Amino acid sequence: MSNVDNKTDVILIGAGVMSATLGSILKELVPEWDIKVFEKLGSAGEESSNEWNNAGTGHAALCELNYTSERPDGSIDISKAIKINEQFQLSRQFWSYLVKHNLIRNPQDFIMPIPHMSLVQGEKNVAFLKKRFEALSINPLFQGMEFSDDVDKLEEWIPLIMDGRTSSEPIAATKINSGTDVNFGALTRMLFEHLKSNDVEINYKHSVKNIKRTNDGLWQVKVHNLNTGVIEYHTAKFLFIGGGGGSLPLLQKTGIPESKHIGGFPVSGLFLVCNNPEVVEQHHAKVYGKAKVGAPPMSVPHLDTRYIDNKKSLLFGPFAGFSPKFLKTGSNLDLIGSVKPNNVITMLAAGVKEMALTKYLIQQVMLSNEKRMEELREFIPNAKSEDWDIVVAGQRVQVIKDTDAGRGTLQFGTEVVSASDGSVAALLGASPGASTAVHVMLEVLQKCFPQHMKEWEPKIKEMIPSYGLLLAENPELFQQIYNETAQTLGLSGKELVYH
Ligand SMILES: Cc1cc2nc3c(=O)[nH]c(=O)nc-3n(C[C@H](O)[C@H](O)[C@H](O)COP(=O)(O)OP(=O)(O)OC[C@H]3O[C@@H](n4cnc5c(N)ncnc54)[C@H](O)[C@@H]3O)c2cc1C
Repeated sequence: MSNVDNKTDVILIGAGVMSATLGSILKELVPEWDIKVFEKLGSAGEESSNEWNNAGTGHAALCELNYTSERPDGSIDISKAIKINEQFQLSRQFWSYLVKHNLIRNPQDFIMPIPHMSLVQGEKNVAFLKKRFEALSINPLFQGMEFSDDVDKLEEWIPLIMDGRTSSEPIAATKINSGTDVNFGALTRMLFEHLKSNDVEINYKHSVKNIKRTNDGLWQVKVHNLNTGVIEYHTAKFLFIGGGGGSLPLLQKTGIPESKHIGGFPVSGLFLVCNNPEVVEQHHAKVYGKAKVGAPPMSVPHLDTRYIDNKKSLLFGPFAGFSPKFLKTGSNLDLIGSVKPNNVITMLAAGVKEMALTKYLIQQVMLSNEKRMEELREFIPNAKSEDWDIVVAGQRVQVIKDTDAGRGTLQFGTEVVSASDGSVAALLGASPGASTAVHVMLEVLQKCFPQHMKEWEPKIKEMIPSYGLLLAENPELFQQIYNETAQTLGLSGKELVYH
């Protein structure tokens, strides 16, 4: 059964943090536009954006070692770290705007201050960390970062990690107190509540099955209403595909030339979660280590204090793995179904090239619980198996595409793919992910609405005062914005004073 066509200005597919962010920005810029959301699950933020499905790190490159690489001459390239940090500052500003204007409330329910630390062992790694610290700490964005290779200091910073450590290998850490833990699930739910109270039509249990261009240039989505079993058709002038891992198959259905020669490679994840409150209380930081050889950058092990349901928790992981599903709630046929005549060579080339990754993922899938505990004991030497349970995290679908580096190159970033006329955009990839949602959605606006950007600029600057500027090059502005957003979001500790 089908019903009549319903026309609207904007359709957002998926109720994750990306659609939530785009919808919220658009509602501020053009409140008169009608927006509809279709989500196949029963509520918002249930897939990757859910608090149990991601690591909740406010990625600002304060602790993730994969954002700083060593050049052949031994110097450290910090350009990527600066870029990620700048992107996170945009999110902080937008969230702060929403709180200040009472569009969302109780920021402590979605963002909490937590020190971000990097921890390494071995002479070479310690030398790398020291150089990285020297390069970063003179940059305004990384002000306040400390380095220590002194065991007494480390015992003060990370008692749980240092207790019972017998190795005589050199060990060192950096610590910066401006880090955050972000509950992206709570944030997503708050944003959808805000959208709902601003007349956005949010349709849960509505699964998008097909996408077609109509003769008058609109996008028509065929939606299965899972509540009633009815097939509905809705059209919009602009379509955003924010289906998380499910975005690639939906993008392929649009048939736009930009959707061709792209594949997806799903990487699944597991965390260990501590069930002993006494252990949880002994740790207060997000501590990132170094990735193992062959491991993809997003499976760097880390031991994280998290705030979930207003309760302090402790999670370790993620352990990567392989599952052919594109969403946690997806189907085992997702991967094979995404192979099309136009991307089969790209996908095969990636398969040949990424043997080390495949080997790593197979090893990870085969890990027994005791082996996982052994990896945890590299962080917490005295960890007891009975204190830790396993939780299954979200799926990340990494983009495979042909690049200058060759056919079938695996990408670890996020990619906005849009039609040349800007009428449809999709978000693919998952790193650095939710933390940079505001930056990525501004990119969607720039690509899809270039004709409106001039007119929208004053409002964007009201929401995001640093828009168009680099904070690393404007230290006084950074200090002002940092301190203001810290106050609004309840992150105030020590104020930053630039000298
Ligand atoms: C293990 C792991 C750790 C991570 N850690 C971090 C971290 O520490 N920090 C960080 O910033 N990011 C992290 N991320 C990335 C972050 O979670 C994602 O980038 C972000 O949540 C993606 O949001 P989204 O809205 O694109 O997708 P999702 O939150 O997955 O939402 C997509 C929605 O679309 C719906 N959907 C899909 N297909 C259809 C369809 N056909 N019809 C209707 N609805 C559909 C889905 O049901 C889902 O609700 C992590 C991810 C994983 C998996």
